[in-house]
This record gives sequence, structure tokens and C-alpha cells, in this order.
Amino acid sequence: MHFPETYPEAKQARRTAIFHEFFLYQLQLQSIKQSERHVANGLALHYQNAALKEFIQTLPFELTAAQKRVVNEICLDLKSPTHMNRLLQGDVGSGKTIVAAITMFAAVTAGYQAALMVPTEILAEQHYQKLKQLFAPMNVTVGLLTGSITAKERRPLLADIENGRINIIVGTHALIQDAVNYQRLGFAVIDEQHRFGVNQRRILREKGLQPDVLAMTATPIPRTLAITAYGEMDVSTIDELPKGRVPIETSWVRSNQVEQALSFVGTQLAQHSQVFAITPLIAESEQMDLKNAEEIYAKLSERFAPDYQVALLHGKLKDDEKNRIMTAFSENQIQLLVSTTVVEVGVDVPNATVMLIFDADRFGLAQLHQLRGRVGRGKKQAYCLLVADPKNQQGIDRMTIMTETNDGFVVAQKDLELRGPGEVFGHQQSGVPTFKVGDPIADFASLQVAQQAVQKIFTTDPDLTHYPTLKQYLAQQQQNYLTLD
Ligand code: ADP
Ligand code: MG
Repeated sequence: MHFPETYPEAKQARRTAIFHEFFLYQLQLQSIKQSERHVANGLALHYQNAALKEFIQTLPFELTAAQKRVVNEICLDLKSPTHMNRLLQGDVGSGKTIVAAITMFAAVTAGYQAALMVPTEILAEQHYQKLKQLFAPMNVTVGLLTGSITAKERRPLLADIENGRINIIVGTHALIQDAVNYQRLGFAVIDEQHRFGVNQRRILREKGLQPDVLAMTATPIPRTLAITAYGEMDVSTIDELPKGRVPIETSWVRSNQVEQALSFVGTQLAQHSQVFAITPLIAESEQMDLKNAEEIYAKLSERFAPDYQVALLHGKLKDDEKNRIMTAFSENQIQLLVSTTVVEVGVDVPNATVMLIFDADRFGLAQLHQLRGRVGRGKKQAYCLLVADPKNQQGIDRMTIMTETNDGFVVAQKDLELRGPGEVFGHQQSGVPTFKVGDPIADFASLQVAQQAVQKIFTTDPDLTHYPTLKQYLAQQQQNYLTLD
């Protein structure tokens, strides 16, 4: 590669070097996966198939083909005695919660407890309410454990988790505190896993019986990076939305057209739909965020109250106050919710049809897509209005991409191309390594070939009996290279 005599020679040398690098990386990654497979300390959850089918019958809708497929994949893992370490990815609104519910129910029928860990109290409360309702006919008890639960409620709750009276526990990171002892935790689901650190996932995985773990995300790692970032996990993908969803219409409006956007909001409210208005994000200044939010709240109240109920939600509110507002919004007692990005993750209000985002160019693509996913969850046509006067090309590109696609995988891929993997994944959490020669995006084809080559070796010769050099290489590397959780 350093002293080529012809251009094809240079190209060929580079190609070889890239393959070499990717091959060795994949070798390490897959050897971890291989050794986890061999671990005999996993649980075999013998769930009751008939009960599971009966539960699925009680659901108010038919599962999509993709949901059925991933439920099967997860159930196979539950039943097998090896440790489950699976990532479930599916776009916003693709219906991951119900997949979690079904598979947690499976664990319960096998005589185990299941836990669902989520990043925010709002989301914990919402999942708790939903699961309680779903499981009401099934004789399954659901508990909610968050930081804001009072000491008085906490003691009996912890006791019921420990004596097994509670089958399914929903909560925030409070679930992994030392004080929480599970009777028989067999399955743990982590929702919106990108919001959790690597360590929190590990602690959950090491609780009690070493439960099977399913991590769910709506911020997909672009296909081009999934095999490097998550090479040690099995991946299930929901690649279809429930039937009857009308694609969200996204428009980009300049701030001098905001009047038109607001009158559109008015017509939607008049049609009994609900509206989110997201206020600007000022990096590293919660004070400024709040000031902006309050100004917008005042302006929108002046215009739409008292005909409609308008409320303000922001991070400085107490948790029970946040919950009260979110509950009121989901029950349609509030029609227009002005909010900072605290609603970003997971909130499900099917009657909301407008997502109005102020200063949208201040948000990253993944976050914009998440916010947009808060609407379009019902049968009505939904709209995302991006108010922005971007000052640079990147901002313009982001607005354009948002108006051109609704597909989370495409958005993630574009985000990656615009910002690069370091920015997208951060450094500690990413597990995305830096390569010397290869570029996992530009040289994706080589990466894929390397992955397949390694897979083939492990399938035919899991102990590398016929590959002493590779075996030796792995032994040397074991200590110092990979730090995947
Ligand atoms: P996400 O994958 O973003 O977490 P949710 O699990 O919150 O999505 O589901 C979004 C909405 O779609 C919910 O209101 C849920 O009840 C509904 N839903 C899920 N699966 C189906 C289905 N197969 N058919 C119709 N609606 C569904
Ligand atoms: Mg969700």
C-alpha cells in the first residue's frame, strides 16, 4: 500500500488492508457472541404457548407480520437455555410496546417475573397504565417503581417484588438500585435503550438470576453500522407499521410564515385534534429553554385559550406535576401542549395530529424524527410543522431530509452521513470502533464480506480447531482491545 507502482496495485493493496482490519475486528466481536452462546448459566423459560395465544386474542388489533416474526424470535430465545442479548429495533410507532408486553407475559407464564425499564417517569407511568389495562383479564399483577414513589408506598412495593406477588415491574432506573430484590426475575426489557448507559444495561443483566435481556430502540443504528456497533447482540427488526397508518405530512415553514402555521393549528383544534408545540432547544441553558417555553406558552394561550385548554410542560416541573399534565393531555382534557423536549421519548397520544416545532434547525435529525413520531399514531392524517430559518447548509439539509422521508432508517443513515459516527454515537457509549484504514460507511461492502467470512468460520468450526493462528490472535487480544459491555 505504501509503495505501489500502478494505480490498480494501490487500490488492491488498500482493499486487502481494509478486509484484514475488518476481518480481525469481526473475529473478536463474534468470538464474544460465541462465548456467550456457550455460557450455560442462561435461563430456559418454558412459557405456556396456549396462554400466550389466548392473550394475543384479547388484543384490540391484529399483530403485524413483523410483530409476529419478532415475537417468535424473542420467544425462541426465552425458551433456549442460553443467555438472551437481543436488540429490537423498530421505527417510532411500529408497535414495540406490545411486543414487550407479549414476551413479558410469556416469561410470567413460565413462572418468572419480568421487568420493563424506561428512561423517564412520564414513560414509566404511561407503560404502567397500558400494561395494567392489557393484563387485567389475565390475572397478572403489574407494579410501578420510580424515584418519585413515596417511602410509604415504596416499602410494600419492594416487599411484593421480593415475595413475587408482583409479576411485572415497570420503572425507571430505580429498578436497578440495590434495595430492589426480585423474587425470580427471568426477563428484562429496556425501552429506548439509547437513553441508558452501557453500565445500567449491565447491572440489569446481572440482577438476581441473570435474566434474559431485550433492548428496544426507535433510533436505529443505520444498517451500515449495525454490524459493527451491535455485532455482539442479536438483532430483531420491525420493518412495517400497523395497517391504516396515514403517513405524516411534514412541512418546513420560515419564521415569517408562522402565522399560517398557527392558523393551521387552529383548524386542527377545531376538528377535535390535539397539538404538541415544541419549544426551542438552547444548548446547555435550561434557563433559556424555560424562558422561551414560557414566552411561546403565553403567546399560544392568548390565541387559543379559553376555547381550548393550553398547558406548559418542562423539565423543571416536579415529576408528579409532569405526570398530571401528560395524563390530562392523553385524556384530551388538554388540547394544546406546549413543551420542551421532555416529551421526546415514547409518549403515545393517538388523538394528537400536529407536531409544531419551533427553531427546528436547533435539533438533531434523530431527535426531530423522534418528536415527529409523537403524532400520526392514530387513524387521522397527521402533520409535522418545522419552523426554522437555518443559518447553514447542514440546517438546510436537515429540514429537507425531514420533509422528504418518514423512514427512521433513512433518517438515521442521513444523520450519520451529515455528522459522522463519532458525533452520532458519542464516544463512550457507542461501541463503534475507529479503524485505521477501513471506513465502516464508505467500505461497507468489505465489512459485510468480512462479517460473512467470520460467520462461516464459526458455523463450521466454533472452537477454531482448524485455525490455530486465529485462535492465538484472539487469545492475545482478549485483554486489551474490545470493551463492549
Ligand atoms: P413504539 O414502537 O414507537 O414504541 P408503540 O408501541 O407505542 O410504538 O405503538 C404505537 C401505537 O400503535 C400504539 O397506540 C399501539 O397500541 C398501536 N399498535 C401497536 N401494534 C399495532 C397493530 N398491530 N395494529 C394496530 N395498532 C397497533
Ligand atoms: Mg415506545
